[in-house]
Amino acid sequence: MLRAVFFDIDDTLFSTTEFSQHAREKAVEAMIRNGLQISREEALRELRGVVEEFGSNDDRHFNRLLDRLPRAATAEANRTLLVVAGVMAYHETKWKELHIIPASRRLLEDLVRTDLKLGIITSGLTNKQMEKILRLGLQKVVHPKHIFITDQLGIAKSNPKLYRLAARRTGVKPAEAMHVGDHPLNDVQTSKRAGFIATWHHGSGKYAWLKPDTPPDHIINNVEELRGILTGQYSVPLGA
Ligand SMILES: [Mg+2]
Repeated sequence: MLRAVFFDIDDTLFSTTEFSQHAREKAVEAMIRNGLQISREEALRELRGVVEEFGSNDDRHFNRLLDRLPRAATAEANRTLLVVAGVMAYHETKWKELHIIPASRRLLEDLVRTDLKLGIITSGLTNKQMEKILRLGLQKVVHPKHIFITDQLGIAKSNPKLYRLAARRTGVKPAEAMHVGDHPLNDVQTSKRAGFIATWHHGSGKYAWLKPDTPPDHIINNVEELRGILTGQYSVPLGA
């Protein structure tokens, strides 16, 4: 019997990869408007390199971008002004665009009305992930005690312990829990190793090209597809 459903956030409940690309474009455009002398494409290419090399949680992306560009690009500009303009544009985009698409939200709201326990299992820095939870309004859908963030718990998503802990703290057995996530290894394979039912969100995120070695129990291309699986295969009473 299915008693709990856990969701990953990035590239599952929210198209993080698409969103951050767009936010970075806005940031670069703001920097150019404020005196950065380089083409938008060149700046974006270099910024992509920074993010790949230093990771998405590095907090000096725009400083590093300026360090890497030819000197002439910033010769006539104030570097701090450029960095702050970039950061502001990034955050403004975040305010505007960080939301769950209506069809997914409807499914979550319908799930709240069932007996299923709902949770979040997400990888990343605690405050950053918590901010996403609040901006997406997920705290209205899941119990605060059912939010599991790798940084907060000190266990990564590559470790099945994380999933077992989430099941235990939610009061269900791993076999009664489903995890929905996009990462073939950290979401699919590891949750399966923990004994969960694994649903692979095979969308357009940055891991779309990777394939899990262990086949997932279910594959979806968007969160709404879960509705049919839950009603058809687990008799969860949801509307069509
Ligand atoms: Mg993810």
